[in-house]
Formats: sequence, structure tokens, C-alpha cells
Amino acid sequence: MATTEQWKELESKYYMFLVRRQPMVLERGEGARVWDVDGKEYLDFTSGWAVNNVGHCNEVVADAIAEQARTLLQTSNQFYSIPQLKMAEILVENSCLDKIFICNSGAEANEGAIKLAKKYGKKNKDGAFGIITALNSFHGRTMMNVSATGQPHYQELFEPIPTGFTHVPYNDLEAIKSATDENTVAVMLEPVQGEGGVNIPDPDYLPGVRDWCDQNNILLIFDEVQTGLGRLGTLFGYQNFEVEPDIITLAKGLGGGVPIGAFMAKDSACAFDPGDHGSTFGGNPLTCAAAHASTKYILDNNVSENAAKMGEYLGEGLRKIQANHEFITDVRGMGLLWAVEFDSDITPDVIAACNESGLLMNPMRPNTVRLMPVLTITEAEIDEALERLEEGIRNATS
Ligand SMILES: *Cc1c(COP(=O)(O)O)cnc(C)c1O
Repeated sequence: MATTEQWKELESKYYMFLVRRQPMVLERGEGARVWDVDGKEYLDFTSGWAVNNVGHCNEVVADAIAEQARTLLQTSNQFYSIPQLKMAEILVENSCLDKIFICNSGAEANEGAIKLAKKYGKKNKDGAFGIITALNSFHGRTMMNVSATGQPHYQELFEPIPTGFTHVPYNDLEAIKSATDENTVAVMLEPVQGEGGVNIPDPDYLPGVRDWCDQNNILLIFDEVQTGLGRLGTLFGYQNFEVEPDIITLAKGLGGGVPIGAFMAKDSACAFDPGDHGSTFGGNPLTCAAAHASTKYILDNNVSENAAKMGEYLGEGLRKIQANHEFITDVRGMGLLWAVEFDSDITPDVIAACNESGLLMNPMRPNTVRLMPVLTITEAEIDEALERLEEGIRNATS
């Protein structure tokens, strides 16, 4: 068996250097926990970047994958296939959307949604193509999503980038109104901004955007890649805000751990005609069997409700820790998506100390960490995580 050091040597020799990794090699996961190659156990509050919503190696999902792997792994969209249709049914029947297209990642889902909006503009709005997105948004790493993302540092190295996007401050309805012109075909927003800081909008923001879109024949697209599938305490994030979007995009938690994405639309927004879009692997039987099993698990076991309840509980605990430490300047979140902000750039020290104490978190900003545990987490596990957080913070700052 290779050691941590040997795996790290392989990485630096063979893998493109694109991310400063945490120093452990993770080997195994179960529920809310993962283990590294040295056998050290961690409570995982990263969840593969908000992916393992139904817990690591959920048995129902693992069984569905194993069974499908022995039945049919891949067939193209030239044919009907059963897992794809079962997945389509469960997602449509439990949402406000009417149709789905299944793809392989969040970026791909957003690409498809943007294409759909542009086609809608061609067909229904004199060729309008402009899309308004928010500053501090995150929509993915493909060229078009780099343009859509309202953070210059993701764009500058890759110019020229696709045009047609206007970025406005988040949570500012007037800014959307001012940015709208006759070319505007869609507004694309995260219902809660994830990567951009766990930014929660005021209650009247998204309904206001909805009204503005209705008045101007503009499509409202919600990027629910991070907020979907229970993360915010409801199956879809939009359900927290009394708003129905025209299009949503999903990925991350959709497949219970396997790579899969999708976009869904109201019939009124389904502007595609045969041949306009497609994918070799999109709707693949294996990943769709996993996504169907994972979504059904969420519904059958009230996982979203658990996320809402455990989110309240986690928030209370984090605020108690904040009360004991002046340098914690903010604690914010919804469901099981939380951020803890410090008054200086101590994220690397906090992350390193919490790695030691056995809690994995996401270093979101030099002064902010993000917490996103599995949605099946229990009170006892949260208590344990809060103890490990407090210990880590103490060690990082003493
Ligand atoms: C992660 C993320 C994406 C990109 O998803 P990938 O699967 O990494 O391409 C897009 N939008 C949001 C809101 C995300 O959090």
C-alpha cells in the first residue's frame, strides 16, 4: 500500500497543477464521514463540493448503480432508455417545471439553459440574446459560463470570451431594471449565491425579479446546481422564495455522487426543436439510475426537511461559537449551506487546524470558510463537528 507521501508525489508528477489540495488522501466514505489512507476519520463538511447530499456511499444509490452496471451501461439518445425516463418523471412531478434535458455537469447544464434562452429569443423576442447575471455569481468553467460568471478573475486570462452577458450587483432589483434593454432575453441567478460567498437575498428580491421578467417577456433562469436537491431545506431552492422560475439547472447533488447535470424548463420556455442540442452521455443509464435512486431517497426519507432542521441547529451552534470569538465577524446560511467569516485572512490556518481536529471544510475566501455537510447528518454528528470546529479555531488562533 502506498503512503500519503507517495500519492502526493504521483500527483505532482502526473496531474496538472490547478489546485492547492489539502494534505490528506481520502480513501473511503460512509454517511457524514470520510477516512484517509492513514485511517484517520473526518466529519466531511465539504461533501465533494455540495454533492453527497444523501450521504457518502448511500446504500440505496450504490445498489442502483451496481444493478444498472450489470443491466445496461450506455445507450445513446437515438433510443428510449428506462432510467432516463424514470429520472425525468420524478424530477418533473416534484417541481414546477414541465420538461427536462439531462447532461453531465453543472457547467453543461448552464450551457444548455443559455442556449435554450437564446433560441427562445430568436423564436419569440425578435432575436433578443442578452443575459443579465449577478456579480459574485458562479456558473462554471466552460467559456460561456466564464462569461456568465460575474467574477473578473475567472475571465481575464481567457479573453476573448463570449459576449452578451451583463453583470449587475446581486440582491438589487433596480440594477436589473437599469440593465434591461430590448435585447435582454433572460436573467440568470443563483437563488442563494454559493461559491460567491453564501449570499442570501432579501425576501422580496427574487419575487421582484420574477415580476420584472413577466412584464418584459424575459426568462428567469435559476442556477440551482448548488442549491437544488435539498441543500437549502427544500427539494429545490426556489421553493424557499415563493417564485417559479422558467428554467432551472441542476448538477452537484443530483446524482448522489456520480457526475450528472440537467436543465428543466416550463413548456412555455421550451424553444428547442429537434437537433438544436444533444449529448452522447447525457441521460446515460448508469448516472440516471443513480440520480433516480438518490432523488427518490431524498423524497422517501424527508431528507430536505432534515436539511432544514439540521440547518437551524447548525446555525445556532455556529452563532454560539461566534459569541465566544470576537474575530468571527459573520455567520450566515440557509439549509445546510453555511459560511463563517473572520476579521482577517486566517482561513488557511483554520482549515489546517480543523483538518487536525477531524473536520473538513471548504476554504471559500481568505477570510471565509464554507460548511456544507451531507443532508442526512444527525444532531449528534453536528455536535461533534461543532466541538471539532471550536478546537480547530482555538488551535489556529492561539
Ligand atoms: C459548481 C457550480 C457550477 C458548475 O458545476 P460543474 O459541475 O463544476 O460544472 C455551476 N453553478 C453553480 C451555482 C455551482 O455551484
